[in-house]
This record gives sequence, structure tokens and C-alpha cells, in this order.
Amino acid sequence: MKTKTFFLSTILCICAVGIIHAQPVNQRGDARFPNETPGIREDNVRLVDWQPISKLVVKETRVYRAKFPVIDIHNHLRRGLNPNRFKEYMEEMDKAGVWMVVDLDGESAGDGYKQNLAAAKGQSNERFKVFFRPDFSKIDEPNFGRNEAARLEAAVKQDGCRGLKINKGLGLGYKDNTGKHIPVDDPRIDPIWEKCGELGIPVLMHVSDPVAFHEGPVDRYNERYDELQTMTSFYGDAFPYSKEEIIAQRNRVIAKHPNTVFIGAHVCDLAEDLGRVAMWLDQYPNYYCEISARINELGRQPFTARKFFIEYQDRILFGTDTAPNAEAFRLYFRVLETDDEYFDTTPAHKLQGRWMVYGLNLPDEVLEKVYNKNALKIMGMYKGGAY
Ligand SMILES: [Zn+2]
Repeated sequence: MKTKTFFLSTILCICAVGIIHAQPVNQRGDARFPNETPGIREDNVRLVDWQPISKLVVKETRVYRAKFPVIDIHNHLRRGLNPNRFKEYMEEMDKAGVWMVVDLDGESAGDGYKQNLAAAKGQSNERFKVFFRPDFSKIDEPNFGRNEAARLEAAVKQDGCRGLKINKGLGLGYKDNTGKHIPVDDPRIDPIWEKCGELGIPVLMHVSDPVAFHEGPVDRYNERYDELQTMTSFYGDAFPYSKEEIIAQRNRVIAKHPNTVFIGAHVCDLAEDLGRVAMWLDQYPNYYCEISARINELGRQPFTARKFFIEYQDRILFGTDTAPNAEAFRLYFRVLETDDEYFDTTPAHKLQGRWMVYGLNLPDEVLEKVYNKNALKIMGMYKGGAY
């Protein structure tokens, strides 16, 4: 019986293919309607301009405020802040239920961190925290590490900085006077990592970009082709360290300084492979992970991401990598809190790959830790139950 059905369906398929190929095909569509006026259509749409609007009818949840007060551990207030801008930021935070943001733009060079701290203090000391950025242009100076560690100590003890920020310039951009790119595990930096441990402040490290920015050219196979029209690709000879090598340098730093807490920005720079991120979190108890600018990555693998959040609920922190913006915050909450299907996160950031995402529907206990408890612990501000 089964053989007969298979035989019949095979014959039918062959016939169908034969019919399609045998008939003259109307240039504008279906060969069965050769004399009909074709439907209205826009010709010559380039694939790069294609912005399909989904016709899927599924639940859409508007999350106006997060379920628990939120700390955004990865935010950028930039330099030259003025009181009006700050007021706008606080309004955006209030609209979405964001309690605190961590400003990562406290540059050491020219004491930029002091300007940001002063601006933050003028508004709300509680709601804006500033992280210090070391000045790697001084790397060749004798005692660079010790001097910069001393400046960091003053910035923390006297001025109120709450952490250290490292950006991908380390490994991908900054060079020393020999012309060599400074590796993340350059021993001249060791005193700074050690000082962070001593001061009890975390190091937030962003040391590489999505895999598609590093591995392979910007070509038809690149899953972030659109985005890389305006962003930098790190593929090619100009960048001596591969993403894998930079990750290895970073891991050596984390292993060498077990008393210092490190936070891996952008899901430890490898949101595409949560299995490996999990391995690092297992391997390094002093390593944490934040999710900024990667909801599109997490939301395209909802089953894997949900398991990851539940298993590592004590090690994951909330972040956005934007300036405070209620609508961007709300998209993050929609991914974390709901079981909505197939929606677009582009409004939170610029285009980051052309795919839709799914909500992770995380349990309350996990949400609360990710939204604030883990960040409070890491910054030494956790006081138990009440906020
Ligand atoms: Zn950032």
C-alpha cells in the first residue's frame, strides 16, 4: 500500500513539474492566467531595500515598564552633558521603570570622567553611576600601570566612579610606540586589573564585535551585510588579532586576576554561541555577562537563550548600550518578559542582522536578578530584600 502511494505521488510530482515547464510562463507571474492584467507591483526592488511587513497574526504585548526596577549596566551618556539633556534622560528612565544607568563614558584622558560625574551629581547621584576608562595612549610611559591604577583609585575613592570600562580599542585599535597592537593581556595593564579587585569594583570589557564582523569578508554570505555597510569589519590584515585570539587574551586576563570581577559586554562578545559563554562562566567564577545590544541574538534562539538565562541567572546583567530611551528599554523588556513571537528589535538599535525575534518569557525570579540584584551585588550595593 505504502509503495503504491509513493509510486502515485511520484508520478503526480513528475507530471506537475512537466506542466510547469511545458507552459509558456507569463513574465509577470502565474502561467495559468496569461490574459489577465497582472496585479499592481513595484518592479526592480533591490533586495537590500526590501523591508517585508509580516502578515503573521499573533499576540503583541506592550510592556511599558519593567516588572522590577532596572539597572542598565551598559549605557552611554557621552561627553558634554547639559542639565536639560539629563532631565530628558530621567524622564525616559521613569517612563520605562529604569532605576539606574551606568555611564561608561568616564574617560580618564583629560579627566573626562570628572565632567560626567559632576553632571551626574548635579542631577541624581543615585540614578547615574560612572565607570572610569583608562588612558591607553600612555601605555609606553614608565609605570603606566601603576600610575593609571593610582588615578583610578582617586577616581573611585574621591570622586565616586563605580567601575572600569574597557572598549575594543584594546586589541583592535590601540598601538604602542613599536607600532604593535596592544593585546588585551599586555602585562603592563596588570596593575589596573589588580587595583579593581582591591577596590572591589567591576571591569566591564567589550573586546570584540559580532562574529560576522570578524570572520570572513563583507560579502553575500555575511549575515550582517546591511549593518556592515556603516560599521567596521575587522576581517583582514589590518587587524593582527583574530576574534578567537582576542577572546583567548581576555580569558587569560580573567584567569590571572581571580579577585577581580569582570563583566563580559554583549553576552561576553559571543552571543552567537551561548554554549561557549556558559563554559566560560563555569570556568571563571569571577566572570559575569551582560546582554546589551544583543537582544536580537538572544531573541533568535529563544529556546537556547531561555535555558541559558535560567541556568546562569546569578551571572547575567541587564544593559542596552544606548542613551536612555523608553522605547528601546521597552523592546528589551518585551524580549525578556513576554512569549510574543516574531517581532522586530531594530527600533532599539540600528539594523543588526535581518531576522525577527521571539520572547523568552523568563520567570520573575530570574528577571529580578537580571534587572537589578546581580548588578547591585557586583557594585557592592546590595542591601537584601528591599530597594
Ligand atoms: Zn557600549
